[in-house]
Amino acid sequence: MKSTLPAAFQERMQLKLPGESDFFFDALEQKAPVSFRLNHSKNNHPPTILSGDLQAIPWATAAWYLNERPSFIFDPFFHAGSYYVQEASSMFIEELVKQHIQTERSLKVLDLCAAPGGKSTHLLSMINDNSILISNEVIGSRATILAENITRWGRSNVVVTNNDPEHFQALESCFDLVLVDAPCSGEGMFRKDPNAVNEWSENHVQLCASRQKRILEQAASLVKPGGHLIYSTCTYNEEENEQQVLRLCNEQGFRSLKTMLDPAWGVTESIPKADTYAYRFYPHKTRGEGFFAAILEKPEDEAEGHWPRPSKKISIPSKKNMEVVKEYLEDPDSLRFIQHKEQILAIPASVSDEMTGLLNTSLHIRLFGTDLGQVMHEELIPAHAFALSLIRKKTLPAVSLGLDDAIAYLQKKDIKIPGYAKGWYLIDYMGAVIGWAKILPNRVNNAYPKEWRIRLAADDLFLSGNARSSYAAPAADRA
Ligand code: SAM
Repeated sequence: MKSTLPAAFQERMQLKLPGESDFFFDALEQKAPVSFRLNHSKNNHPPTILSGDLQAIPWATAAWYLNERPSFIFDPFFHAGSYYVQEASSMFIEELVKQHIQTERSLKVLDLCAAPGGKSTHLLSMINDNSILISNEVIGSRATILAENITRWGRSNVVVTNNDPEHFQALESCFDLVLVDAPCSGEGMFRKDPNAVNEWSENHVQLCASRQKRILEQAASLVKPGGHLIYSTCTYNEEENEQQVLRLCNEQGFRSLKTMLDPAWGVTESIPKADTYAYRFYPHKTRGEGFFAAILEKPEDEAEGHWPRPSKKISIPSKKNMEVVKEYLEDPDSLRFIQHKEQILAIPASVSDEMTGLLNTSLHIRLFGTDLGQVMHEELIPAHAFALSLIRKKTLPAVSLGLDDAIAYLQKKDIKIPGYAKGWYLIDYMGAVIGWAKILPNRVNNAYPKEWRIRLAADDLFLSGNARSSYAAPAADRA
């Protein structure tokens, strides 16, 4: 027995993995691999971490294992949203989406338990511009971090909400895909997160299972007939995994779909009953943490729900202000604009009805499309989100900083940019935009958001995966 792991957990795993549990426990003593996924919509690459001979993650596009853990916090590419640091096994949702969902169609997607944003940013890279993602997180402080990570990713077809799953009733039977990456007992994160070990108990497993049941009941009602639900956890016990999938199949008529696997991946197929499929990742078989995922299809036996009508209450920016803003946009005709208090927001025209329909619900919206900023005295005071977005003009004036100055900028320190005319400039590091600065005759206004600035101690804790206690989240956090 390993003295560091709860005895009851070890007994469970010995029963679950007869003949291989020693390999499993040995793997838990190894270092957890570090991996990342590139944001391929932003055509800048992070040479800082891409150097060396890296092994690709086979079930995800543009994702790699790193040979060692660099300091992401001191990498401007991280702050530019060029990549997301994400645990490798959990990227398997890409394979589920690729094999079962027609992503060339226009889709309505809901990520119900989304913070800190690993799967939401991944989904945004998989869906097209005629699709929308609602990325939801129930815990307020975590919704803030989610909105930050979504902002970095740079897409405009996304809404971040801060709601309990129950608040989505108005959108019943409306979604092509609902992802429930559920709060769980976190057995699969034991080697990364000592808190998950300390919190584990038989009681906690039961508590998580009943919470998952509640979340899934709500989630299932939101899927449209013939639509899909992906359920995932980072734990091994059957109460939180197969039993949840079986309940959806037995009580709600969902069908859990078979996914083709390459045997070289080492993914374990689990078939809890005939024609019911789920997928398990064990650290002694796959290079990654423990993970469970299944994709289910809803029966076609009910009517599709009605998406709320486009909101008539929205304000439109004045023509004069729009003339200012348009100068900053690559393709203004592909966008719709909303005046929200002082700010001008942009959303893709192709999904503007769907997005403004959400303003007719009681959802608590934290982020809506891309914040462009505000116009004051015929000048755009650009929002940080606009710098990181994919909709701004590619040829805006920019200043390239070296690494030390880029870090100073990200720490919101005073920086010197001699020899430039007065005005707003994008700040970039090796082609990756990290924000705005306003150059004045005798100083530079660093416009990096104060609340985003690099503060080493807290940021390192967040990125090392030990964020659970600091955010008081009742959930294992693996992204
Ligand atoms: N999908 C995220 C990612 O890939 O970055 C990780 C999600 S984490 C495993 C589960 C999330 O569910 C947490 O952010 C947690 O705050 C949230 N959560 C906790 N209780 C919940 C509840 N009752 N309903 C919905 N979400 C809940």
